[in-house]
Amino acid sequence: MARPLVIATQNRGKLEEFRALLSGLDIEVLGLRDVIQHEFSVVEDGDTFEQNAIKKARAVAEATMMLTLADDSGLEVDALGGAPGVRSARFAGEHATDNENNAALLSALGRIADDATSYGARFRCVLALIDPFVNGGAPVIVDGVCEGHIIRSARGSRGFGYDPLFVVEGGDRTMAELSDDEKNHVSHRARALAKLRLMIAERVAITRHVHG
Ligand code: IMP
Repeated sequence: MARPLVIATQNRGKLEEFRALLSGLDIEVLGLRDVIQHEFSVVEDGDTFEQNAIKKARAVAEATMMLTLADDSGLEVDALGGAPGVRSARFAGEHATDNENNAALLSALGRIADDATSYGARFRCVLALIDPFVNGGAPVIVDGVCEGHIIRSARGSRGFGYDPLFVVEGGDRTMAELSDDEKNHVSHRARALAKLRLMIAERVAITRHVHG
């Protein structure tokens, strides 16, 4: 029987990417709503992706006592001093939609007095994996980066978040113009998860051995 792994996110885009990225492992990928039915939220008030990822993983692992993976990720634009960064999900305000955040990003870039047509940027992802029964629930942390640049008008309809404004380094398509497979080869999330895949497989195997 496949062993469960909880992905500590309410973001459907992220959850679907994790399902695809973890396919092939003998695990059942569960979203937060599959395991916690009551209202549950974690205040993401850390100064870094790492602090927020650990906070989310801890809260969910403690509530469920299950193997838990949390992602904190976002966009860093050089011309904006690394913003939106940890505030990527709420750049246009608390509970902002992707469209509102994209509009806020373009208007922040519009306030820069230059005539650049694109701006150097990267997506960054930090993952925290917690097994409540291993090492006292100490988190394992990895990160992944996808370099590229931001353009001034959105292109493409796939993905989520800032994907339509982000052109991936080495090509001329936005992340939202890539197929799911293509995104899952180059994305910050894929690069971070590649570093954890083996450990997740081992944890699942150990659980099977212990619990039969
Ligand atoms: P978090 O849920 O606090 O980690 O916020 C992540 C936010 O960063 C999302 O709401 C998006 O705005 C942005 N983001 C993270 N990963 C991606 C991605 O793969 N594509 C586009 N935007 C992303």
